[in-house]
Amino acid sequence: MKRLRNVKILATLGPASSDEAMIQKLHEAGADLFRINMSHSSHELMRTLVGRIRAVEKKCGRPIGILADLQGPKLRVGKFADGSATLTAGQTFTLDNRDEPGDSTRVFLPHPEILEAVQPGHRLLIDDGRLQLLATHSDKTSITCTVVAGTKISDKKGVSLPDTTLGVGALTEKDRSDLDAVLAVNDVDWVALSFIQRPEDLAEVRKIARGRVGLMSKIEKPQALERIDEIIELSDALMVARGDLGVEMPIESVPGIQKQLTRACRRAGKPVVVATQMLESMISAAVPTRAEVSDVATAVFEGADAVMLSAESAAGDYPVEAVTMMASIARKVERDPNYPGIIYSQRPQPDATGADAISLAARQIAETLNLSAIVCYTSSGNTGLRAARERPNVPIIALSPVIQTARRLSVVWGLHCVVTQDATDLDDMVDRACRIAFREGFGKPGDRIIISAGVPLGTPGSTNMLRIAYIGSDGMTGI
Ligand code: PGA
Ligand code: MN
Repeated sequence: MKRLRNVKILATLGPASSDEAMIQKLHEAGADLFRINMSHSSHELMRTLVGRIRAVEKKCGRPIGILADLQGPKLRVGKFADGSATLTAGQTFTLDNRDEPGDSTRVFLPHPEILEAVQPGHRLLIDDGRLQLLATHSDKTSITCTVVAGTKISDKKGVSLPDTTLGVGALTEKDRSDLDAVLAVNDVDWVALSFIQRPEDLAEVRKIARGRVGLMSKIEKPQALERIDEIIELSDALMVARGDLGVEMPIESVPGIQKQLTRACRRAGKPVVVATQMLESMISAAVPTRAEVSDVATAVFEGADAVMLSAESAAGDYPVEAVTMMASIARKVERDPNYPGIIYSQRPQPDATGADAISLAARQIAETLNLSAIVCYTSSGNTGLRAARERPNVPIIALSPVIQTARRLSVVWGLHCVVTQDATDLDDMVDRACRIAFREGFGKPGDRIIISAGVPLGTPGSTNMLRIAYIGSDGMTGI
């Protein structure tokens, strides 16, 4: 199965897409990796979904990435005696530590550590910003607020605190137990961390994860933007989590932040996912709006590594159509005459490393000689990442002896990953690359490819050679 596009599709699984047949349909329609949202999935369900994705992977023969998304410190109010309450602008409303049903004067906030962190003058945005409160007083037991805008509050609505730096780390008790369960499955490739605020939040998770999963930082708090370079440095990937970001920041600043983050990640060579409401109307309609098509196109033009579907694939009426639509938008945009120029204008300088010098040279040679593919041997995945960072206009095949590497790289722009043993010698390295390029549909006998590898073969971090080879007349050898 060869995808005719570079940008990857990350589809969230949910009630509309949890059986194996549907997961397979989504994968065949274009989903390269799947997100399991731990906010809505029990450990049991997570394990079941992982099993089903792996069954589909086995059947379809392509490595599939799995991302477990931890809920993070998402704050919610308690319940109301009548399920909801109606407020008026200017009135006083209190959030407190009393575990009793709320009314139009107060509600329980089951996060005692938050009460004191909120200072007078801080905003509290409830229900994705539909209700806005301004704190006037806070102490250990309560936060007193004035209602600024909005009238309705109901059970368990989310609370965003854009002005407050929370003392809590990125992991709640629930996240810790979810992370343990995810690591215990030992078959998940990425963990996404919600609402991270500081580089230290990542350090804590990294200690627990010990390299068994890649860490994807979801950028959805203004505090994270203040130290974004350090956060990118410590992350294996980023997600532009536009849903919560658009609540925590003025919504009109989200497109600019998206550009800033996609560019910063490209420079760093870290994969970046653009997420949320990309084809939102397809939750209930078979076709998206023009604005949504344009939004997906923008992310593709920006050179994002992946675009994500949330409720569209998890809970909507048209999950397969949403994936199909995303894939066709991506293919069309990547063939647009303006696409290469836009992508190349953002090309970063190589770092002074063998992997970058080789990746740059491989791209130039492949483009100059109009080769069929760049084939890179990558065991840790680093060479694959650096090759993708060049955003070449020829396909990149990433060969790895490590299935976990191939799965993890499924989120990366343009990489077609294949699991194969390390080559035994140089001839085998060339033959293997040519055979795989032919078998996977990237070239025919007589076509040329360029191969990058590290000699001695199989030594991680040693990328140091380039070789141009012809696919032999039988497709099985290289010359
Ligand atoms: P969520 O994250 O769907 O888990 O909230 C994405 C976002 O906030 O955009
Ligand atoms: Mn979010």
